[in-house]
This record gives sequence, C-alpha cells and structure tokens, in this order.
Amino acid sequence: MTKYYLTTAIPYANAAPHIGTAIDYLYGDILLRYQLLRGKQAKLSIGTDEHGTKIEQKAAASGQTPQQLVDQLQPEFQRMRQALELNFGAPLSQIGAELAKQDFATQNIVNIRTSDPLHVKRVQAIWRRLDQAGVIYKSTYRGWYCAGCEAFVTESEAREHDFICPDHSRPYEKLSEDNYYLAVSKFTDQLREFIRTAVVPEFRGKELLELLKDGAQDVSISRPADKLSWGVAVPGDPSQVMYVWIDALSNYLTVLGYPDEEWHDDYWPAQVEIVGKDILRFHAIVWPAMLLALGLPLPEKLMVHGFINVDGSKMSKSIGNVVSPLEIIDNYGVDAFRYYFTAHVPTFEDGDFSWDKFESAYNGELANDLGNLLARVIAMIRKYFGGNLSFVGDDNELKDQAETLLGNYKVAMDGLNLHDAVLAIMEYVHELNQYIERSAPWQVAKLEDKSERQARLDQVFSTLVNGLLLVAKYLSPFLPDTAQQLHQAVGGDSVPETTSIIFPKKYLHSESAKHD
Ligand SMILES: [Zn+2]
Repeated sequence: MTKYYLTTAIPYANAAPHIGTAIDYLYGDILLRYQLLRGKQAKLSIGTDEHGTKIEQKAAASGQTPQQLVDQLQPEFQRMRQALELNFGAPLSQIGAELAKQDFATQNIVNIRTSDPLHVKRVQAIWRRLDQAGVIYKSTYRGWYCAGCEAFVTESEAREHDFICPDHSRPYEKLSEDNYYLAVSKFTDQLREFIRTAVVPEFRGKELLELLKDGAQDVSISRPADKLSWGVAVPGDPSQVMYVWIDALSNYLTVLGYPDEEWHDDYWPAQVEIVGKDILRFHAIVWPAMLLALGLPLPEKLMVHGFINVDGSKMSKSIGNVVSPLEIIDNYGVDAFRYYFTAHVPTFEDGDFSWDKFESAYNGELANDLGNLLARVIAMIRKYFGGNLSFVGDDNELKDQAETLLGNYKVAMDGLNLHDAVLAIMEYVHELNQYIERSAPWQVAKLEDKSERQARLDQVFSTLVNGLLLVAKYLSPFLPDTAQQLHQAVGGDSVPETTSIIFPKKYLHSESAKHD
C-alpha cells in the first residue's frame, strides 16, 4: 500500500479561521510530511463548510449573498495555510481554486469548499445512493429549536436552561417540521465496532460507546427549504434542503471525485481523519453510518484532538484572550508555532497557551537547546577543522541514544502521538548537548599528541554532525524550515561561509524571563 489519505475537518466558514483550524492544518501537515518521507503517495484534504443558516443570516445582515460572504473569507483561510507553510505540492493559488481546476495527481493537499458546484453535484448523487440503499426516510420532528445554534435540543436540555439558549440568549422555539432522516440505528453494532477500533485516543471512544449503550439514534438530515435555503437541495424534493451532515461529511469523498465513475478509489478509505473532540460524535456515528450504507470501507483511524485554552481559560472574544496564530507566526516564525503546538500541547487532550509559556519554550528549548547546539558545533568545526565537514571515520558514539530515539519516535508517530514524537527528538537534542560537555572538545584540542588529538576530534565531531543530521531528519515533518537549516549547515562538505542563527532569543511578551 503506497497510497495514504489524511483528512482534516472542514471548519465552518462564517468567520476567519481560528486556532482550532490551525491545529487541524498543522497536525494534518505533519502526518502528510511524515508519510511522504516514508515514501507513501500521501494526500491531505482540507476545506471549508460553507452552507447553513448562520452564514445566510450573517450575509443578509451585511447586505451580501451567502456566496459573497464565503468567497470574501477565503483569502483568510489561504493566508493561514500559507503562514503555516503547509506542504501543498502546488502553488497556493491552485490549492484555493475550485475543485475542477485542482490537480489531484500532483498536489499533496487538495481543498474542497462545500459551495463548489462539483461538490454540490456529488453530494446530491450521494444522497440518491443513500436513498436507494433504503436508509433515508421522511418523518415529522417536533422539538425545541434554536435558530442561532441551528439545532434542536432535547426537552430536558431546554428545561435545564429555562427554555432559553445559553449560547444565544434567545428563547427556544417549539418547531414541528418534516425532515428526512438517516437510519443510523440500523448500524449500531458496526458503529460500536468502528468506535472500538478506530478512535484514537481510546478514552474518547469509551465516552462514545457509553452514548451508544441504548443504540444509535437516527438523525435528521434535512430542513424545510423555507427555513434553510442556503444549502444543497434534496434531489427530487424541492421543499427540502440538506442539513449539514450529508453535505459536510461527504467532503472527504467528493474531494476524491466520488461518486463519479473515475474517482480516486485507491485513496479510500482514509488512513487518518483528524477531528476536534467537539465533532467526534458525528465522525464516529453519522459518517460511518453513511459509508456503511454506501457500501464503502470505513476510515482506519479517527484522530481526536482537544481544544486550546489561554492561560487556563477557554478562548473567547468576550474575555478578550483570543490568540491569533498569525501573530505568533509573524513574531517568532512558523517553526516556533509548529513546535509549541506539538511539544507543549498533549496531542489528544486540551492544551494551554500563554505568552510566558510560549516564550519560555522558545528561548529555552528552541534557542538554547537546539539553536545554541548548532551554533556551538558550527563554531568548533570552524575552529578545529577550518569548516571542513569530512571527518576520518564515521563514528557515532551516540548510537544507543539514536536507537532509542528511533524506537520512541516510530511508536509515537504510528500512534499519532505527535507530542511524544517531538519530545523524543528533543530528548536526543539533550543527549547531544550532554555529549559536548562530556567529550569536551576544547580539552581534546589541547592534547599534545597531534594524531591522537585529530583522531579524537574526528570522532567527536563525526558523532555530533551525525546527530544533528538525525535531528534534521526526524524534525522535518514538524519543523521543516529548521530541518532544512540544519541540513544546510552540516549536511554538505563544509560549513557554509555564513550560517544564520536559528531561533535567536526573543522576549516580546515576558519581560521577567530575561532575568532567568
Ligand atoms: Zn443557540
């Protein structure tokens, strides 16, 4: 199997992308780069969910059409993708083009917008197939509804909040309407099995299994057209428009061309689908039910990440603690962003950001441990070897440590634990720093015996250069720029005349840290 397909959840495009979207992109890109390194023909899908009442309402409020609103937000998504230096494999403008103008064969990343006519056409074809499979039926739904949430709540949820939506401070309306339903309940046994085997981490799967203990519930998959007009029309029934599920979840297939005859079926099923914990339920229940009804295999893994808090609190506009990924990247560089959100955020749980923690990681781990390591090695190679990088013999006195790194890294990456993988690399960086102290090249350089001196220096610097190149290799999915800089510095015949400092120290937010 050389094909490898990764998907990211498509964010709702009623506002500029936030940090959650940046995390989806980042994790997707790291896994993409890792699989490409392993020689896989890997593809990553990204996109935007562009239909629904909220976009319709927001557009109306600003005197735009919904299409104009979502079109206008696209440059913001593009800016984020560019800033994160995703491995597109094609010009960014091509990634942003409509699906028909993208080139699946050459792009590493394919992008789908649910307002794309090709997506709409394919989603309608998917609906027809589901209908033919006998899993769609019409029924009347009665319940409490919040137009802000675009969702019904249960009687007990509505009562709990005194019949007022806590998120929108508006009373729930009692609605009765005709909806189409997807017969998810038919698949309860297969869904349980899927959740048991596919959800990473396991504890998230256990929470879901608890939810399914009385069986899966059928879900409403359409709305009356007079309540929701900005969406995909239900084929054969102009009175109904598709609700988010079929439309948005299908993106992972429509981006591959499904169900057109010539779809890229060799990329299905996805090896990994990356989702935030808030949307796991739909990806672990509704989505696999759709796939089972379509007779398609299920994704191998659902990788579930948590949320990012700021200084221990939920990020919110009203608190004013929203952190912009672009601000971090503009000030510290993209690799610093990529490092913090893998090394300092547990991959499967909620993480915390604060400028203090960020700067401490930047100045301590990136500037001191890694940047300073490279600077010292380069300075000594210039001093003791005139910058020459061809050492006699190919010694590596840190072979055991390299084995440990390799083992831990592989286990972590195979388990989708990006956090542990990057920590394994940093542990090895730590070993390299200790090795410098232990081998004390400045002492070796003072040895009287010239041949003994040279042999030992060759041994030490061969070890260090091998070590740095190993760091570059393993770091490349995570910090691609840094990996390249390490390679440029010590990967050739000699150290380049000029090498720039990687991760120069910066204290833009935490004044106190200067006195460490
Ligand atoms: Zn609401």
